[in-house]
Amino acid sequence: MPKITIAIDGYSSCGKSTIAKGLALKLGYIYIDSGAMYRAVTLYCIQNNIIKNGIFNEQQVLDSMNHIHLEFSVNPSTHVSEIVLNGKNVEKEIRGLQVADYVSPISALKGVRGKIVTLQREFGKNKGIVMDGRDIGTNVFPDAELKIFMTADETIRSQRRWKELSEKGLHVSAEEIRKNLSQRDYDDTHRQHNPLTQAKDAVLLDNSSMSINDQLDFVLKLAKERKAN
Ligand code: C5P
Repeated sequence: MPKITIAIDGYSSCGKSTIAKGLALKLGYIYIDSGAMYRAVTLYCIQNNIIKNGIFNEQQVLDSMNHIHLEFSVNPSTHVSEIVLNGKNVEKEIRGLQVADYVSPISALKGVRGKIVTLQREFGKNKGIVMDGRDIGTNVFPDAELKIFMTADETIRSQRRWKELSEKGLHVSAEEIRKNLSQRDYDDTHRQHNPLTQAKDAVLLDNSSMSINDQLDFVLKLAKERKAN
């Protein structure tokens, strides 16, 4: 059966990665969390004082890209790929609110996006990939055979993110999470380069009141149809 490319885009915390991971596992495809790549760049900038007191110099961020090596390694117990920054697995560190607060301005920089998108296309060059993010269907893989655009009510998304972080032992107030989500959605939809927008040929999935299993059934059915065509 020929392999296809699946692009899943959408707003912050609407469950893209849960569905993308589940789909990749069912199909035996590679899963790439593109947001983790922008988060890892942001973490590097925080750790190396390139972002200080919320301020950064664009050229310094771009220079730092030459010292950043990103790859994914598959966690043997979950079978899910996790982000590795300069040889260190930073999957947990990138999820904190400090990274979340700066990732949108960092990912808005053209030079950062250029390098990350090149790497993303390299990961997907043989198809058989599910990638989630903000510009996957519109920019990274405009020819993807299946594009999904996910959304959900903002209050539900904030509650889901709060639960997810709490389960990982990261304690952040619900109000801080709601503010971060709405700021990131604003930044991601209004930036100049490759803003978040629904691709014309993407299927809309509003999962506000859908279970994970129902969502997976929905996208799996679409993936099978597209593979068959
Ligand atoms: O998906 P996640 O919420 O981890 O993404 C973190 C941030 O990375 C987003 O808010 C967005 O600013 C940026 N991003 C992006 N393009 C992508 C994926 C993520 O600009 N394809």
